[in-house]
Amino acid sequence: MLLTYKYRIKNRNAKSALRRHAFAVNQVWNYCCAQQRDTELRYRAGAPKRKWASHYDLQRLCKGAGAMFGIHQQTIGGVCRTFAQARDKAKHAPAFRKSYGVRRSLGWIPFEGQSRQIKDGVVTYLGKHYYLWGIKRRPIPATVKGGAFVEDALGRWYVCLTVEVERKPATNDKAIGIDLGLKSLAALSDGRKIEAPGIYRRYEQQLAALQRAGKRRHAKRLHAKIKACRADFLHKVSTELTGQNAIIAVGNVNASALASKSVLDAGWSSFRKMLAYKANDYREVDEKFTTQDCSACGARCGPKGQKGLGIREWECASCGANHDRDVNAARNILALALSAERPAEEYRRVA
Ligand SMILES: [Zn+2]
Repeated sequence: MLLTYKYRIKNRNAKSALRRHAFAVNQVWNYCCAQQRDTELRYRAGAPKRKWASHYDLQRLCKGAGAMFGIHQQTIGGVCRTFAQARDKAKHAPAFRKSYGVRRSLGWIPFEGQSRQIKDGVVTYLGKHYYLWGIKRRPIPATVKGGAFVEDALGRWYVCLTVEVERKPATNDKAIGIDLGLKSLAALSDGRKIEAPGIYRRYEQQLAALQRAGKRRHAKRLHAKIKACRADFLHKVSTELTGQNAIIAVGNVNASALASKSVLDAGWSSFRKMLAYKANDYREVDEKFTTQDCSACGARCGPKGQKGLGIREWECASCGANHDRDVNAARNILALALSAERPAEEYRRVA
């Protein structure tokens, strides 16, 4: 399983060098973009269609750019590869990266292989040493596969390192089903509920006031704080759940399909990602009918459709069991994840 370890860079003088490298990366990226747009235009004008330039082709086209911009050729390789991946996923040229102005892209400098050295918690790139915060407390667990320098909205720089780690063997055989909800963050199959802390709501007015007053930097700081608070909360919950249970079953709700403020605030997708990498055995099941089926007898008699959305509690018409809507769903999700009749393809095992 691949994990990313992120460390803040200690050096106070690192910024100018990193900004310079980030500028170079943007030039390479934009060159790839222009190349791709040109290809697309020619196709639209009726040119015979060929395969798009692979990242090898792009790297070949960028030959010599490393020496010109003073960045490592392998960084250029990393940019070309990421570009090709983003393009193939979107099926068209991605956006240009802006180096200046209010809406400039946040700095990003990928590195791999020989382009960097990591020793005793110090990353060396192009002859400059970068010292990392918290590397003693949280050492790098295995050999680093790749990584990048990244900048956040406040102009702080970090090093992200990708490492391959073994999934920990299960220490128990407990399993739990989780229904991600709107009212509370999650309902659990053991009947418990986890309330969403509503961190954004708490700071909403303060944030609005700062934005009205034009205090951009202060507002950005508050945004960063909200993000950190939310991540901290989700980390605590997911660590607790995965520590107590070997099998974690989650419904495949699509957060973007239900995007509302409370959904975004609850941080569903990051919560699910945390569960996926922390769990011994993470399973996602099709959520369809999990709110309608009775978890005691299996009859499909629960609240349905738009009209049923407001019903929080219901009684099963065939067996008389009393259900909390979300806890019932969590129990169904757990049952689906554990049931042997289901073919393995129906749930996605995250590697
Ligand atoms: Zn029933």
